[in-house]
Amino acid sequence: MAYKLVIFDNDGVLVDSEPTAHRILSGYLTELGYPTTLEESFHYFLGNAGRNVHQVVADRYRGTLPEDFTARCHDRVFAAFREELAATPDADTVLGELRRRGIPYCLASSSDHAWIDLTLDRAGLRPHLPTELVFSAQDVNGVGKPAPDLFLHAAASLGVAPADCLVVEDSPNGVLAARAAGMDVLGYTALMPPQRLTAAGATGLIERLPELLDRI
Ligand SMILES: [Mg+2]
Repeated sequence: MAYKLVIFDNDGVLVDSEPTAHRILSGYLTELGYPTTLEESFHYFLGNAGRNVHQVVADRYRGTLPEDFTARCHDRVFAAFREELAATPDADTVLGELRRRGIPYCLASSSDHAWIDLTLDRAGLRPHLPTELVFSAQDVNGVGKPAPDLFLHAAASLGVAPADCLVVEDSPNGVLAARAAGMDVLGYTALMPPQRLTAAGATGLIERLPELLDRI
């Protein structure tokens, strides 16, 4: 199928932020007396933009987190990103190839613009993604995935019908959002078990980003 727009998720798809973010999140929770492994952090929180951490701690431990937990966790993660953040394997090559072929693409992330900007700058992907191609949940009143609003906003901003878009996502929430928007979605399985992405409605799966180039 000839898609007219490829929409990329950011964290875990274009920038390799998830291992760092979850190492710090799980470490901070453990430090506060809620022992959490890296694997548990991926399982519970990946693709949730940190919004349900309070709920999981309440459910698993009948505990509560400090009011400033999210802000302090973000500070720690930002500090780590300044040291060690990189693009995911082949992200730079694939974006460059899409540009070369003249295939429109953009980025749509539930994260805030400040977070997205930091990750793109650190990962060296900014030349591929000028601000007019970067969409955040902040642009749709903070309504992140799994709601379809962000993907619909990105497509409309670039003048493409939802049915002509292909989304690349690594989290069940992202897949749900794409399907709710009426878009095809490739599940990227580098960090997420394929069955969770298929269960959420992924219309295809890729293990490596360059496989995308054969699907458009
Ligand atoms: Mg993601």
